[in-house]
Amino acid sequence: MPELPEVETVARDLQRWVAGARITEAEVRWGRTIRHPEPPEQFVAEIRGAQITRVGRRAKSVLIHLADGRVLTVALRMTGALIVAPPGTPDDPYARVVFSLADGRELRYRDVRKFGRIGLWEGGGLLRRRTANRSTRARRTAETKAPYRVGDVFRRHGPEPLASTFSAKRLAERLKGRSARLKTLLLDQSFIAGVGNIYADEALWRAQLNPLRRADSLTPDEVRRLHRAIRSVLRQGISNRGTSFGDYVGADDQPGANAERLAVYRRTGEPCYRCGRIIQRIVIGQRSTHFCPHCQPAPAGEAAV
Ligand SMILES: [Zn+2]
Repeated sequence: MPELPEVETVARDLQRWVAGARITEAEVRWGRTIRHPEPPEQFVAEIRGAQITRVGRRAKSVLIHLADGRVLTVALRMTGALIVAPPGTPDDPYARVVFSLADGRELRYRDVRKFGRIGLWEGGGLLRRRTANRSTRARRTAETKAPYRVGDVFRRHGPEPLASTFSAKRLAERLKGRSARLKTLLLDQSFIAGVGNIYADEALWRAQLNPLRRADSLTPDEVRRLHRAIRSVLRQGISNRGTSFGDYVGADDQPGANAERLAVYRRTGEPCYRCGRIIQRIVIGQRSTHFCPHCQPAPAGEAAV
């Protein structure tokens, strides 16, 4: 499943290749892919003629910004991919939505398992300032009065881990008073946006923290290590164009190279790159978790699993 580095790779590809392009037509081949507006015919009518100005990312969604301020959101979920197809590229039987561009290319949304969703929204609300100085009540009133905007799609999402505002201090504030296991919390999109199973395991190995540690048990030094590790595994993922184990491809339809750079994920039974001992796999919250029992010692009172 694409996580932050994979979605960021797709967004950067699209920024390079389709910023400035005009969508002359759209064909929806699987109606349930369209989340908003409904029905799909309405979506097609509203997207026709739109000009793409820039492409970005929020959480695990690609954001395609349009010249009139509206934003197209694409949540790739399990097997979604956005591919730029030059004229004459053979049709793709798994393309669920096809956008025709004025220059003859197609922007294809391919999705084998069909879990991904596309929405078209009014702009605004994405750069919500931290609202610590406003009362919850005032904030709620302001939000219900405003029209539904793209920012509202992400209102339950936590901070972007690669944002300059995501400091070790901010991470420490968010961990405080949380009794959840580290692995569970890292996967919680309301805690931090964009991290999934692969990069959570990799970050915990790099920080030398056991995935079963309680979030509020970390020392200040451990919080700093975790903060640094989260950001470095995500940056490494982006520089390798993402991790592919199957479906994930960039907008060039090619897999990323990060899988061979992983330290623990899917390396069960292989030696740890740091200490040479054997990587183990356990299940936490129904998710496979890979770690080194020597470099990431179990918390006090917890038997080694
Ligand atoms: Zn180790």
